[in-house]
Amino acid sequence: MSTPESPPVKPRKPRYAVTVKRVVELAPRMRRVTFTGEALSAFAWSGPAAHLKLIFSPPAGTDAAPVLRTYTPRRFDPQGLELDVDLVLHGEGPAARWAEQAAPGQWLEVAGPGRGYAVDAAAGAYLLVGDETAIPALATILADLPARMPVEVFVEVAEAGQSSALDSPHPGARIHWLLRDAHATVPGTLLEAAVRAATLADTARVYVGCEAAALRRIRRYLLQERQLPATQVTTRGYWKLGETDHPDRDFGEDA
Ligand SMILES: Cc1cc2nc3c(=O)[nH]c(=O)nc-3n(C[C@H](O)[C@H](O)[C@H](O)COP(=O)(O)OP(=O)(O)OC[C@H]3O[C@@H](n4cnc5c(N)ncnc54)[C@H](O)[C@@H]3O)c2cc1C
Repeated sequence: MSTPESPPVKPRKPRYAVTVKRVVELAPRMRRVTFTGEALSAFAWSGPAAHLKLIFSPPAGTDAAPVLRTYTPRRFDPQGLELDVDLVLHGEGPAARWAEQAAPGQWLEVAGPGRGYAVDAAAGAYLLVGDETAIPALATILADLPARMPVEVFVEVAEAGQSSALDSPHPGARIHWLLRDAHATVPGTLLEAAVRAATLADTARVYVGCEAAALRRIRRYLLQERQLPATQVTTRGYWKLGETDHPDRDFGEDA
């Protein structure tokens, strides 16, 4: 219960016990895991670019806390009770390591989803910007945009051949793949350069999801140098270099 001194306690997101039904190699660095389970009959799609938590239980017999990581619901089929999550194989980290060995029959819990992104169908154009972790979010936004909407998409990837991970083409979308040298380039550098060079209508909407420091540079540029109103710009830090379990509520508003 909350007291006058303490902030109100946020209700805990519902949790769903699920098992892995399928694992598909979407691209060299991306695996799609399809979860299923009766519990998903209470799961509700909350729109594009939403987030959920994958909850990894500690090994039986240990008293360690479960590990939670943030992912995007990529597809939910309420009839078939299937939930797809696309995971980047970035190397270190419990979720990335779990994704490497994921196999049908494994069990875990999912919590969420949080609120999705409200697409502005009246916008003059859309600019979608993200690294590999945001590909699922960009795909779900693309699926919700009107077919007549001019859309430009910049995706920064650490390895070639990732385009198969963005399997939701919008008829008008121009998708640009930016290949970063994983060892030499700071994450997000190519995205920032692309945004700086992009043509942007005054009525354009922008969605950016990438590494948190790069996100702040891009946000500052859009609001301060390009003078776009904050209401037209949505930025979301999906991970932070050198930090584990970056919070799911990083909108870069301190930029
Ligand atoms: C709203 C939201 C939605 C997201 N949706 C997705 C999604 O659909 N698919 C997806 O793959 N990820 C998604 N992410 C990103 C994901 O939560 C992070 O990449 C997370 O850190 C992965 O956990 P981990 O256990 O693998 O690594 P952690 O234990 O969190 O981190 C370990 C180390 O790996 C580094 N690291 C983390 N992510 C990356 C990366 N992508 N590239 C290089 N180094 C990295 C960290 O800086 C740290 O040094 C989302 C994040 C948010 C906030």
